[in-house]
Amino acid sequence: MHLASNIKFIECLRCFERYSLQDIADGRYWIGTFICTSCYAKMQAKPHDQSCFGKVTAVEDGCKLLGYDPQAEECSKWCPDRRLCADVVNGAMGIVIDRTSRAGAL
Ligand SMILES: [Zn+2]
Repeated sequence: MHLASNIKFIECLRCFERYSLQDIADGRYWIGTFICTSCYAKMQAKPHDQSCFGKVTAVEDGCKLLGYDPQAEECSKWCPDRRLCADVVNGAMGIVIDRTSRAGAL
């Protein structure tokens, strides 16, 4: 079977928006986690206590703000977003928010 690249056949698990093969190729949807870039950008923009995605672990006013921690088992083994999160935090994929804000989705 051959899928036309513009058919929106796959759904984001968070927002239920549908995406195409072209969206995947363009980085608007992550096939490994079934979550779209727009949702990841929203997760990254939320405060630490609502989403740790794409943030570093930091201490602010004596409070530990949990973000990505390569030493933590949750981050290295269990989190479904661990690969993308690590890339975002390490700067290899620092474009998640930029890409979405340009599209006006935030
Ligand atoms: Zn989404």
